[in-house]
Amino acid sequence: MRSVRYLTVAVALLAGACAGPPPPRPAPQSPPQLLDPDSACLKDLRDHSVLFEPLSMTAASPACQVPNPVKVTADGQMRWNRPGVLSCATMRVVDRFETDAVQPAAERHFGQRVVRLLHMGTYECRTRRTDATAAAAAAGKPVRGGRLSEHAKGQAIDIGGFELADGTVVSVKRDWRGGGRNAAFLTEVARAACEHFSVVLTPNYNAVHADHLHLDIGPHRLCGV
Ligand SMILES: [Zn+2]
Repeated sequence: MRSVRYLTVAVALLAGACAGPPPPRPAPQSPPQLLDPDSACLKDLRDHSVLFEPLSMTAASPACQVPNPVKVTADGQMRWNRPGVLSCATMRVVDRFETDAVQPAAERHFGQRVVRLLHMGTYECRTRRTDATAAAAAAGKPVRGGRLSEHAKGQAIDIGGFELADGTVVSVKRDWRGGGRNAAFLTEVARAACEHFSVVLTPNYNAVHADHLHLDIGPHRLCGV
């Protein structure tokens, strides 16, 4: 008798389960949203008023690939004297440097803003230039070997000067050792660059950098101010 009752209950449960609507199933788990570091970086540039276009580039050498390259023509109110190609990650650092270091320094020293960045080079598939390689090249001797420049990875920019709102040009070549507020501005900007970039080379570092500030985000660390 008892076993019959159990059986009845079990059958009723089973019938109920079959006849009724299926129990709600948990919503299928959507795959976790992976943040695309490339598009996040591009969005960051847009949010910071950087004027650029993403590039798809085929490097001459596999060693000279640039991750997420962008061609930049202006950063906020600071136009560039000519377009430059950098990795997006590098441009992010350049943007912060311009906004947080260059413009405040220009306001302090000159009471006006920088309107044009006078750069002398960004991406270039080449090895590093040193005084020795420069001397060899000047003597017409072949330059072989050497470590790949951070320029070859789109991680470096050479800055030759800055143009202020009133048209004044502050030049690394002319003003670095010239004293006065132009030199003070350039030194302050170079020192501040050491907080943003891993390598900063100035005219104080070697003769190859007599006319520009080299800034890169490569793996080495050097503040050559
Ligand atoms: Zn350089």
